[in-house]
Amino acid sequence: MSDCIFCRIVEGSIPASKVYEDEELLAFRDIHPQAPLHLLIIPKKHIATLFDAEPEDAALLGRMLALAPRLAREHGSADGFRSIINTGRVGGQEVYHLHLHVLGGEQGLPAML
Ligand code: C5P
Repeated sequence: MSDCIFCRIVEGSIPASKVYEDEELLAFRDIHPQAPLHLLIIPKKHIATLFDAEPEDAALLGRMLALAPRLAREHGSADGFRSIINTGRVGGQEVYHLHLHVLGGEQGLPAML
């Protein structure tokens, strides 16, 4: 059994509130939501960080990004959303399995940058 928590979600040995699944990708609700809508999109394949993505992962990364607007629309954030990938120590990454945060909701989000 993997010691990566998101690999365990992919395997089904840890529960998650899944909103999307296909052969390559999984999306689920963040357990500590930072916005009314807070989803995580992950590749099923273990890639620890964006630093570790290889050129052959480009299509997979593109699929992760392309899924974000679809899920935002489907989950009540049709007026926009924020997408974030935290990478490594400086990026504040806590779970070392690549994930794309999708944050949104009807009320809007505070400005960040
Ligand atoms: O980008 P970062 O690594 O900091 O974010 C990890 C995210 O994974 C956190 O928002 C945390 O709430 C979420 N998480 C989760 N389910 C788990 C463990 C962590 O949604 N079982």
